Amino acid sequence: MHVLLVEDDPAVRGAVERALRGAGHTVDIAASGDRGLAAATATPFDAIVLDLGLPVLDGLEVCRRLRAAGDRVPVLMLTARAAVADRVEGLDAGADDYLVKPFALDELLARLRALGRRSAAGVQTRGTLRFEDLELDRDAMTARRGDRQIALTRTEFQLLELLLANARRVLSRDVIFEKVWGYDFGPDSNSLDVYVGYLRRKLEAESEKRLIHTVRGVGYVLRDAP
Ligand code: CA
Repeated sequence: MHVLLVEDDPAVRGAVERALRGAGHTVDIAASGDRGLAAATATPFDAIVLDLGLPVLDGLEVCRRLRAAGDRVPVLMLTARAAVADRVEGLDAGADDYLVKPFALDELLARLRALGRRSAAGVQTRGTLRFEDLELDRDAMTARRGDRQIALTRTEFQLLELLLANARRVLSRDVIFEKVWGYDFGPDSNSLDVYVGYLRRKLEAESEKRLIHTVRGVGYVLRDAP
């Protein structure tokens, strides 16, 4: 993969760059947010490893501006703290995944592989999925609820696609993680719940009926009644 690494800390940058090159990736480097954004705008990368705390523009702002410009490049955000609020902010800005420092380089490579697989899977042409008044256009990667157009991030799209393709079937957290993220997040991960929260907010923005229901102790299901 052609990877853009945006990191201002020389020690982290050097270690991640060596690991990426060692795994056979081509790496471009930027040491500040504005340079990272300029590089990402000039070149279509396969993935971006983006530090949260950066000079000039922070990682959140870089990610927001990329998404606002319609760029769907997979973004793996590096955050210094494990606080839930930080993760939520990163995912909200349009990042596809995050990794808390300090992290194992093998873990970073595994996450990148998973993002690459998802990205490659995303280019297939697959038509439209429907349930009740909800419609998912898999070619345009957009959703509709009645007449209302709903913009989705890559991960929201993949999660909703999985739920729609398995309507009325209860999906366990493990199955959802494996299908959407491509690896095991571990039992304490809350990113699934964060994403379900995003989807519900978008799908119920005009007080529409809830379609994504929690099945306590198991996972989630898309259906018309709780
Ligand atoms: Ca930093």
